[in-house]
Amino acid sequence: MLEEINNESRGDHRDLRKDARRENRAMSATVTFTYDVFVNDPPPQNNGLLPNGEPKGGSPVASTLIYGSKDAVLTDPAFTTDQAHALGDWVAGKGRNLTDIIITHGHGDHWFAAGLLAERFGARVVATPGTIAQMHANIAARPFLWDKVYSGMIPPSPVTAVTVPGNRITLEGHDLVIVEVGHADTHDNSVLHVPDLALVVAGDVIYNGAHMYLAESVIVGGFGPWREAIGMVEALKPRHIVCGHQNKQLDDNAERTIAETRRYLDDAEELLRTENTAVDFFNAKIERYSNHLARTVLWASASALYGVREHSGEDVAQLLVAGWL
Ligand SMILES: [Zn+2]
Repeated sequence: MLEEINNESRGDHRDLRKDARRENRAMSATVTFTYDVFVNDPPPQNNGLLPNGEPKGGSPVASTLIYGSKDAVLTDPAFTTDQAHALGDWVAGKGRNLTDIIITHGHGDHWFAAGLLAERFGARVVATPGTIAQMHANIAARPFLWDKVYSGMIPPSPVTAVTVPGNRITLEGHDLVIVEVGHADTHDNSVLHVPDLALVVAGDVIYNGAHMYLAESVIVGGFGPWREAIGMVEALKPRHIVCGHQNKQLDDNAERTIAETRRYLDDAEELLRTENTAVDFFNAKIERYSNHLARTVLWASASALYGVREHSGEDVAQLLVAGWL
């Protein structure tokens, strides 16, 4: 029996996660099929201050465990050794056999720890061909980006991911489909669609209460491709969306997170017209999104967007990296 819980009218999403999750469970006496989410807090960082004087920091990263009576599949297992241990202990506590770890896109913060988890549980790592190519590109960026900011915290991260036929795997009779949605916050994003749970694990296509990484829009001429990707997620008609970056106090309501992600892009487009500098853009966004987490991501975005505008002709990749350092 599924119980419908409508939280939206109260306008308060806090502490409602468990209620929202309860309705996701299709259970009978002998069969379980459900999901749960573990959010790793960002690792410590010691590379300076933001324009408003706050210390820099990362963004929380969400990993989703989809599981049946015996088996389980995990998504996006974060990136530091400490995060891998915390996530691994949580997964172990579920008492399932972890068969696969699915990576939604190439950004290292979602998968550099995949090898540790794959080894611990004897699981296979799975991604689309496009994501695998982006994983290699992120490995190449480790020395001058990731390992600079998170020195000594990231484990060896060989790309062991494989593709699967039709981008589809089956978990105790239920389809898990990796849907390629093109460019969102980076090239070759994908999402994981679980029709029987009305669930989309959205990686970095949809965000939930955290600043969005807008910088790579300079490579594709704006937010058009990202908007198309959001439309593809919406067309899957999910009721629940797990966002790769999120405030864990918030629920997984699909309609709300899609609308808020679109609005964030609309606001960014407006502020890019009205604000003259990266710092002005940063401050204006904070004013509109005072509760959003991950202001360092906002600053990396602003630095890149205005850096490309002010230094046309310079190497775009270097301007993107500079925003993080
Ligand atoms: Zn990300």
